[in-house]
Amino acid sequence: MKRIEHLINGVAVAGTSGNLKPVFNPATGEQTAEVALASVAEVDSAVQVAQQAYEQWRYVSIARRTKLMYNFRNLVDANSDELARRLTSEHGKVLSDSAGEIARGLENIEFACGMSDVLKGSISENASTGVDVQTIRRPLGVVAGITPFNFPAMIPLWTIPNAIAAGNAFILKPSERDPSTPMFIAELFHEAGFPDGLLNVVNGDKVAVDALLEHDLVRAISFVGSTPIAKYIYSTAASNGKRVQALGGAKNHMVVLPDADIDLAADAAVSAGYGSAGERCMAISVIVAVGESADPLIEAIRERTDNLVIGDGTDPASEMGPLITSEHRDRVAGYVDAGAEAGATVVVDGRDQDFDGDGFFLGVSLIDHVTTDMSVYTDEIFGPVLSVVRVDTFAEAIDIIEKNRWGNGTALFTRDGGAARQFQQEVEAGMVGINVPVPVPVGYHSFGGWNDSFFGDTTMYGAEGMRFYTRPKVTTTRWPDPATSSVDLGFPTNA
Ligand code: NAD
Repeated sequence: MKRIEHLINGVAVAGTSGNLKPVFNPATGEQTAEVALASVAEVDSAVQVAQQAYEQWRYVSIARRTKLMYNFRNLVDANSDELARRLTSEHGKVLSDSAGEIARGLENIEFACGMSDVLKGSISENASTGVDVQTIRRPLGVVAGITPFNFPAMIPLWTIPNAIAAGNAFILKPSERDPSTPMFIAELFHEAGFPDGLLNVVNGDKVAVDALLEHDLVRAISFVGSTPIAKYIYSTAASNGKRVQALGGAKNHMVVLPDADIDLAADAAVSAGYGSAGERCMAISVIVAVGESADPLIEAIRERTDNLVIGDGTDPASEMGPLITSEHRDRVAGYVDAGAEAGATVVVDGRDQDFDGDGFFLGVSLIDHVTTDMSVYTDEIFGPVLSVVRVDTFAEAIDIIEKNRWGNGTALFTRDGGAARQFQQEVEAGMVGINVPVPVPVGYHSFGGWNDSFFGDTTMYGAEGMRFYTRPKVTTTRWPDPATSSVDLGFPTNA
């Protein structure tokens, strides 16, 4: 059986815990590997080597850092097919979806390649007579990322490039459910020429996470995952004096006004609701149908579900793959049961669809007449289930979103510019789409939700992400005498 180990100081390390966890191909149900779960000892050794690497790396020139980041970008790009293949084989999402995820990850490396601009400080000349004041941003030291199963390439790349570009060393604790893709990314990072020990990967579970949260040398934690764990990470890491950004779960609403183009809205709802089997933090899981939009919209979605091809993600014909585990598939199906029992109408029933083999497949479901007290509405399902809540007015739709505990993303479908502007201004969510169902920002804007979808104050990637991994240092300078100088006729270089 293939064994996935840790990557510490540039070499594979078996680990000492003796604990292993099976890794599956969700499309076949077969175990394909076992992943080692780190003990406190491996985490400590990764942090110690990272600290040593940081002591050197923080003084490496921006020119050199940029060159290595370009190498890394080019290697990830050149290996994107292989990355996508590994990703699909452990996550289950279709290959085109894996390729899209890697492309979004590349955007974040490209942003970090522009560190020479992003890391520029500022200076106020002559703040007082003969006195200049300068602000620069310095790295933090060793920082850690703890990531979820649903984007095993993109989410590590939300954090690693900016953290490294800013002069930090990094420890990644990926999801134990699909660790091969982040391990491959770490190998490419080393191949790019970065020093050993700068990026270390410890695979593991709560033991490894807690060791990172408690380690004195870890200065900052970036977390992405479910809300209960995000809250735990935020409070534990903050109480240990660390800087934290913790992104949590979601329940994203898509409001459809009566004036919307119903075909466009139905295409968007199907794509954003069932894409990646609904296992996206930006998936649409609730449609808030305003007034007379409801009946034609539900019919248009139902028609589209007839033609969806669900199958192994490596088959180019497949549009949707399996869920991550059999337990999760059963949990998602349980929400359809609960919706039906609570009095909602199951228009399309994914539980009815049969699949060959032992993969963790479930058909798509569309549930109408959902009310905000039903578990199918209140809980994050994280599967291919779209709920429809019917309301009479736009104001009611905005109110429903405000009362929901999460606030990751939301979308409005309309042709009315005034309504769109009102929605953008009033709605309680961190990321808003206007006729765009999955409003994931590009790598040069930053990403993070509101309310129970985010704990912390500096969101991920883009300029905010770079700020998270640096701290300001302000220097006040007075030079009473002219500086000494010497003659040098050589051309100035960055070497
Ligand atoms: P998860 O919370 O189960 O796991 C996330 C990470 O936390 C993993 O590395 C896991 O090993 C670790 N972990 C799990 N239980 C832990 C515990 N008790 N103590 C310490 N660490 C623990 O999340 P998941 O199932 O891997 O991912 C899906 C969730 O992530 C969904 O809720 C989804 O909405 C959320 N998510 C959010 C965003 C966002 O941007 N807000 C993005 C992607 C996923």
